[in-house]
Amino acid sequence: MISGCKRIVIKIGTSTLTYQNGSLNLRRIEALVRTISDFKNAGHEIIVVSSGAVGAGYAKLALSEYPKTVEEKQACAAVGQSQLMKIYESFFALYSHTVAQILMTKDVVDDPHRLELVKNTFNTLLQMGCVPIVNENDSVSCDGIKFGGNDTLSAYVGIACDADIIINLSDIDGLYNRDPRKFSDATLIDRVDEINDEIMSYAGGAGTSRGTGGMATKIQAAKIATENGIPMIIINGEDPYRLYDILDGKHIGTYFAKRK
Ligand code: GLU
Repeated sequence: MISGCKRIVIKIGTSTLTYQNGSLNLRRIEALVRTISDFKNAGHEIIVVSSGAVGAGYAKLALSEYPKTVEEKQACAAVGQSQLMKIYESFFALYSHTVAQILMTKDVVDDPHRLELVKNTFNTLLQMGCVPIVNENDSVSCDGIKFGGNDTLSAYVGIACDADIIINLSDIDGLYNRDPRKFSDATLIDRVDEINDEIMSYAGGAGTSRGTGGMATKIQAAKIATENGIPMIIINGEDPYRLYDILDGKHIGTYFAKRK
């Protein structure tokens, strides 16, 4: 499926990056970084869209409860984003790869001139062999310039980078026809060619308390991506080595085919 894909966006959600208590899941991040580094070594270009800034800030500050207000979240993101980059930087350095931080706001992709500038930045970083690590600029974003979550951000990053595919690492195996946490007969949809009302109705509610996105935001992201010619796949991020299965052409997760 992606063996022929050179430029890959990998979106990693907070629930994949952190334990339930909010602290960073270093074992998983290490496995992710190792796999991504190996993909790079095999000749792929990887752009990471990473959540986890708010979560990492919350854990670092040892707050008694998860931030709820906008200002608390923005403050936690300011603390957590640098923490997150420090971890990525040191893990990628083990495999001799260089990371580059890009913090985006929605007004950038809405302005053709600024979008062009960021496209050039991505291309230059990829030519230089870096791994761009993208997040929303949470500490300064407010209504009107917000993506509303990193699922949406990953679709726009895919477009800005002219990616061949977006892989969305979730805390669930893919899109089910009903909530598998509630219904034992729920079945996994392995391929979606058209995102219609029926597919949207499979989305259910929000995800975990730590991430912001649920299946609905993932499907909306898939709609944006596929309508712009970029396929998207949702897989479970629990075991990062399963990324190799995709590379080996195995059908896992839910594949959203491109529309043009
Ligand atoms: N940008 C947020 C963070 O880094 C996450 C947004 C999301 O989970 O979609 O914490």
